[in-house]
Order: sequence, then structure tokens, then C-alpha cells
Amino acid sequence: MTIYLVDIEQVIHTCPAFADPHPFDTRRTLVDVIPGGPCRAPVTVRCGGKAVQIPCHRHEPAKRQCGACRVIVTERTITTRHLTEVAG
Ligand SMILES: [Zn+2]
Ligand SMILES: [Zn+2]
Repeated sequence: MTIYLVDIEQVIHTCPAFADPHPFDTRRTLVDVIPGGPCRAPVTVRCGGKAVQIPCHRHEPAKRQCGACRVIVTERTITTRHLTEVAG
């Protein structure tokens, strides 16, 4: 399967509505893609009179894709950042 490695940066703050620190912004950065290899269940389609094989992920919904094409997202690091420095 194809693995998407992402870094998460969570920004937390306090505001008048919620005095407790809470996340208000989350950013995801794609840091790496580990390919799952060639498709194990290519789909044959007809294109201009000839048969062409395409990887199943370009044709099937995620649920029906083969193991090589399926994508999983792994969170590598989760960084929590306070918007303002805590005084005192
Ligand atoms: Zn808030
Ligand atoms: Zn496939």
C-alpha cells in the first residue's frame, strides 16, 4: 500500500469564549510518499479501439482498490504550538 507521511502542526490558544487552551488551527504537511509498488489488479479499459491496462486506483473507488494502490496516511509528528507565549 502507498503510505503518505504527514507532519501535523496544531496551534492552540485561549480566547474569551473558551478560557481553556484549545486547538483552533491544524496544518498538515506532506513530508514523504512511500509507493506501494505496481498495481496488483489492473483494470482493462477500451481506449480508441484498443485495450489498455490502468492501475485500479484510477478506476475503482478506494474500497475496491488492491493492496498496492490503497493509501494510508501516517502522522509522523504532531507538534503543538501555543499562539502566544504564556506569561508568568
Ligand atoms: Zn478560541
Ligand atoms: Zn491497484
